[in-house]
Amino acid sequence: MSKFYKPKRAYNIFNPLSKEPFKLSRSKIDLFLQCPRCFYLDKRLGIERPPGFPFSLNNAVDKLLKKEFDLNRIKGSRHSLMQEYNIDAIPFNHQEIEDWRDYKKGLWCFHDPTNLIINGAIDDVWVNRTGELFVVDYKATAKSGEVGLEAEWQDGYKRQVEIYQWLFRKNGFKVSDTAYFVYCNGIINKQVFDKKLEFDVKIIPYKGDDSWVEGTIIKAHETLIKDVIPQASKDCDYCAYRQEVVKIEKV
Ligand code: SF4
Repeated sequence: MSKFYKPKRAYNIFNPLSKEPFKLSRSKIDLFLQCPRCFYLDKRLGIERPPGFPFSLNNAVDKLLKKEFDLNRIKGSRHSLMQEYNIDAIPFNHQEIEDWRDYKKGLWCFHDPTNLIINGAIDDVWVNRTGELFVVDYKATAKSGEVGLEAEWQDGYKRQVEIYQWLFRKNGFKVSDTAYFVYCNGIINKQVFDKKLEFDVKIIPYKGDDSWVEGTIIKAHETLIKDVIPQASKDCDYCAYRQEVVKIEKV
C-alpha cells in the first residue's frame, strides 16, 4: 500500500451518541459541499479519500511569503505590495497569529447548535487603522496570462476565505467583507531556467459573503447524525471509475 494512503481509521470519527464537542475543519466542510457521501465516509466511517501529492513548490512560496509579511508585522509597517495596491492596512500582529496559522490548532470557534468545533488555518490577516480585519490567502500557480478568480474550480478558494471571515467574526473581531488573495504566478516563458523560478505577484481583492456558512454546518451535522450513507454524486469521476471496476471484478 502507498505510504500516503491512510487505511480505515478508528479515531477522529463522529459519534452521534457522544456529548463531547467534535472538531470539524473548514476543509471537511468543503468536502461536504463537494460530496456528502465522501464526507460521511471520512468523518463518520473513518475512510478517507486518498490524498493528492504534496504541493512542495506552493508550500515553499507560502512559507517565504509568510516570512516576508512577518518582517512588516514586527515593524508595524505596510509591505511594498500593500503600498502598490493602495491597501491601507498592515499585517496584524496578534499574540495568536502563530496558532491561527497552525493547521493543528487554527482559528476556531465552538458552534453551540451542533456541538461542533469549527476550525481552519489561515495564511495571513491584515488590519486597518480602525481595527477592521482583512482575511488574506496566498496562492501560487504557473500559467501563461493573467491570474484571476473566475474559474469554477476557484469557488473553493472563495469559500475558504469566507469561512475564515465567519470564524473571525465568531471570535468577536470586526471583519471586512473584502478578502485579499496574494497570487504568485511563476513566469514560464523565460528563454532559460538558470536555476531560478521568478514570479509575478498580484493582489486580488474579493468581496466575501459568509451567509452560507451557518446553514452548511447545520446540514453537515444533520448528515453526520444519520445512520444512512448519502448518495454518491452522479458526475463524480472517482465514483464512476470505482463502479466500473466493481462491475468488471464481479464478472
Ligand atoms: S461521488 Fe463517490 S468518490 Fe465521488 S466524491 Fe462522492 S463518494 Fe467520493
